[in-house]
Amino acid sequence: MSVVWEHVFDNFGIKQVTKTDKEKSAYVPNAQQRKAITAAGIKPASVRPGPEFSLTILFEPTGKTIRSSYYHSERKPSGRTPEPRMGHEIISSWLDKGDRVLIGNIGKQVFAIKLGTGVAVDKDVIAQEVVQRADPATILARAKAAKKGTPPTREVKRSDFARNPYVVAAALLRAKGSCEMPGCKRALFEKPDGTAYLEVHHVIPLGEDGDDMLGNVAALCPHCHREQHFGKDRVSQRKSLSKYVAKL
Ligand SMILES: [Zn+2]
Ligand SMILES: [Zn+2]
Repeated sequence: MSVVWEHVFDNFGIKQVTKTDKEKSAYVPNAQQRKAITAAGIKPASVRPGPEFSLTILFEPTGKTIRSSYYHSERKPSGRTPEPRMGHEIISSWLDKGDRVLIGNIGKQVFAIKLGTGVAVDKDVIAQEVVQRADPATILARAKAAKKGTPPTREVKRSDFARNPYVVAAALLRAKGSCEMPGCKRALFEKPDGTAYLEVHHVIPLGEDGDDMLGNVAALCPHCHREQHFGKDRVSQRKSLSKYVAKL
């Protein structure tokens, strides 16, 4: 996901969950993540487990908020400044070793996103999904503070996958003008040339090392395509779609 997170969060950091984080059930946030938590007005307690706070989880079918404690680890005899840890649900049941987790704040609200779960493609859509969950007063205040005129242009450096146009074209030929999601009977609108509008989707996203091959793409109607990226059943749907296209 190539998202300009700077436009979304006041502060944010991204870290990969380590073996030790998981084994000790104590997630060690990195400096930027600590900055976000601090900016939300949460201070680490001196003892474990310390008081708890909620994080709003995004793009997870499992729920909207998750609890975390925030405390200083026990002082080492070496006298080093103790690093804050996060305990409770966030690490005991939500995060797993190897997950890349973003923790960021908007005002007093703390958000957490597991990255690389193939959720979404468009960075503006992702930004919108996040901001939509900020508290209504913050949303309104920031919208009202928007300046008159067209938004500033932004230079986005990103690496794109050079998708094979023949794979796309072949998927469209294979689909014969109807959505390849099993069971979908939706009517498609026509393009100016009279052909049906379909979008070619990578079942296992390229960003998750999916192949740019016919066996990993499906020509979908816009509804099914969006649902693959944002729907609550996207994980189970991905599995059945994957089996289906592999047989085509
Ligand atoms: Zn897609
Ligand atoms: Zn469809």
